Formats: sequence, C-alpha cells, structure tokens
Amino acid sequence: MRNALIIGGGLAGTAAAIDLACAGHASLLLERESAPHDKICGEFLSGEAVAALVALGVDPVAHGAVPITRVRINAGRRHVAAQLPFPALSLTRRVLDEALLARAARAGVAVQRGVSVRGLSGSIAHTSAGDISAPTVMLASGKHDIRGHARPPGPDQIGFKMYLRSASLSRALSGTVAVTFFDGGYAGLQPVEGGRLNLCLLVDGAQYRELGDWSALWARLAREPGLAALADAEQLLPRPLAISRVPYGHLARAATDGQWRLGDQAAVIPSFCGDGMGIALTSGRLAAEMAAAGASADDFQPALFARTRRPVRLAMAALALARHPAGRWAAMAGLGAVPGALALLARATRVADPHALAPA
Ligand SMILES: Cc1cc2nc3c(=O)[nH]c(=O)nc-3n(C[C@H](O)[C@H](O)[C@H](O)COP(=O)(O)OP(=O)(O)OC[C@H]3O[C@@H](n4cnc5c(N)ncnc54)[C@H](O)[C@@H]3O)c2cc1C
Repeated sequence: MRNALIIGGGLAGTAAAIDLACAGHASLLLERESAPHDKICGEFLSGEAVAALVALGVDPVAHGAVPITRVRINAGRRHVAAQLPFPALSLTRRVLDEALLARAARAGVAVQRGVSVRGLSGSIAHTSAGDISAPTVMLASGKHDIRGHARPPGPDQIGFKMYLRSASLSRALSGTVAVTFFDGGYAGLQPVEGGRLNLCLLVDGAQYRELGDWSALWARLAREPGLAALADAEQLLPRPLAISRVPYGHLARAATDGQWRLGDQAAVIPSFCGDGMGIALTSGRLAAEMAAAGASADDFQPALFARTRRPVRLAMAALALARHPAGRWAAMAGLGAVPGALALLARATRVADPHALAPA
C-alpha cells in the first residue's frame, strides 16, 4: 500500500493508523485538537470495543476504566435490568483518545496535532498547515463533517453531556449503565473513573427550545422517576458539552471521490446502544487490513456497510419504538416478560465479527 493520510485522531483514525504502522505502512494522522479534551460521548465501552482496544495495544483497565456488568432500562415508573452479555467498561474520552494517540506515535505514525482539515479535493487535503496530498485518504473526522463532504443532516435533536458527582447515585449505579427513556428523548448514566458519573442525553430540539435552557432541562430530567437523584447531584462541568443534528442511521454504502470513510463518517448507530466506539474501532481496523492488502476505497466501503447495516438498522427500529409512549410501554412489558430479551437486544446491536481481525 502507498502512504495514507488519516484525518481525525479519534477511535477510528487511531485504530487505522496503529494497525497500518504494525503492518509496516507509513501514515500521517492529522488531529485538529492540540491537547486532551472532553468529548461528547456516553463513554460506555462494549465488549467488542474493549477487545479491539486491547488488540491495538491499549488496555483500558490500565488507564483506570471502570467495570460495567449490568444494564438497567427505565421508562416512567417501570424498569427492567439484566446482566450484560459481555464484559464492558467505561473510560473518559479525554483519557482514552490520548492513550490511542500516544500508542499510534509509539508505533511510528506521524501524528500532527492542532492541524485542521478545511476541505478535500480528491487526494489533496486543504489544511490549516497547507495542502497535503496522499494516495490514500481516510476520513475519520467523526461527528464533524469536512466542508463539501457532509453527511445528510440528522433529525432536530440535541445531545448533551455532563459529569456529575453524587454519592447516592454512585452507590446505586455501581457497575451499571442506566438508560432512561422519556417523552422527547433518552438519557444514559453510568460511573466513570475518578468517582464521577457520565450523564449523556438526547432531547428533541423543539422540547429544548420550549424549556429554554440547560437548567430547565435539568429540572425536567429530575422529574423522571429514573433520574430523580439528579436533583441532588453536583454538576462538574461549567456547562454541558452539546451537539445537534447527529445523523443517526447514516450508513455510507459506497466510497465517494476515492476516500475511505471510517467511524461516524461511515455508520452512526443510536447512542443508547453504546456501540459507536466499537464500530469506529472495527472500521479503522478493517480499513487498515484492507488497505495493507492493496484494496481500494471502492472495495472497503461496501465491506464495512455489510458489517454495520444490521446493528444500525435494528437499533434505529428499537429507537423508533421507544420514542412513542405506547411503544415504550409495550417494549418494557416485553423486555420484562421474556427472560434474556434485554441481553439479546444488547448483543444484536453489536457490530458483526470484530474478532476476525488479527491482533496488532
Ligand atoms: C450523545 C452521544 C453519546 C454517545 N455515547 C456512546 C457510548 O456510550 N458508547 C459508544 O460506544 N459510543 C457512544 N457514542 C458514539 C461515539 O461517540 C462515536 O461513535 C465515536 O466517537 C466515533 O468515533 P470516530 O473516531 O469516528 O469519531 P470521533 O470520536 O468524533 O473522532 C474524530 C476526531 O477527528 C477530529 N477532527 C474532526 N474534524 C477534523 C478536521 N477537520 N481536521 C482534523 N481533525 C478533525 C476530532 O477532533 C476528533 O478527535 C455517543 C455519541 C453521542 C452523540
């Protein structure tokens, strides 16, 4: 394979760069952020994501990851809970992304921080540091689109993230990821390292605008039975991180302009599944494997689509059900009545066959 230019140093970009380097191929990775920073993400690492990270040479536990063994779903006054069918972890993206970037640099990847790609013309990237051209261009800019190469806009929803401290919530949610569905959105809450909790949520834009601001939304959330303990929790960020119009359900079927699309640029699974990071890592590893074998973007994109379409479409169907009060009621009744149904749903929304990839 000829040299690769990788745009974005999140999970997908670093996974591709590390595996390419381990296979003896040089790459240049551009990351627009120059220093560690918080990212909007629930920070739930599925079993597949954990396995991929370990294979890449980054052990999340050594970086302080917290074990997550149970899932709890709340809707109104109902709840169902189950053991997860895989060992999961949670680790802040501030720590995880830096560990991956450091691993890439150690593997021999040329990592340039603080360089932003502003546009792309075929194999030429127009960057804040001038034009850079490479025979293979991998687009791994995640939630952020490159001008002229945007994914279709998502629905009018806003995602928020806040870190919390609450002794009672930490006790109640030890080892547990809790997902609460409510009218107009859902929220995920789980412990992360440092005795904190991560609250990540998605809410309809119209509902948020009607509420007016974050403190009104916070008060609204605390009225949900599954989130009542928020009322006494300390918010640890000066303001929440926010993102709007995430294109959930997006799937890139074919390559455009010869560029390889990885991670969220290729497939966006609803956040409540907690598998976006697993998909990003799998996509990066698959891209490296195929590029090293001489494949093109036209070979890669349908191969990734074949792996991601089933979990993404199933998760979109589950989300459509959960958005309607009657659908939520029926889903909670079904999940409560059928033993193992929740674990089955958790497994069915994982990206297929990650272990087919050889360890680096
Ligand atoms: C509200 C919410 C909650 C979520 N919760 C979870 C969860 O709990 N578990 C889970 O597995 N997934 C979760 N996800 C999904 C997960 O965050 C993404 O799927 C994952 O981060 C995608 O990885 P990526 O490498 O494609 O992109 P990213 O992680 O977004 O990384 C892209 C990188 O590219 C850089 N970049 C962007 N633009 C440029 C540019 N122009 N030039 C150079 N660099 C650039 C960025 O700075 C960034 O470092 C959640 C998503 C949302 C929105």
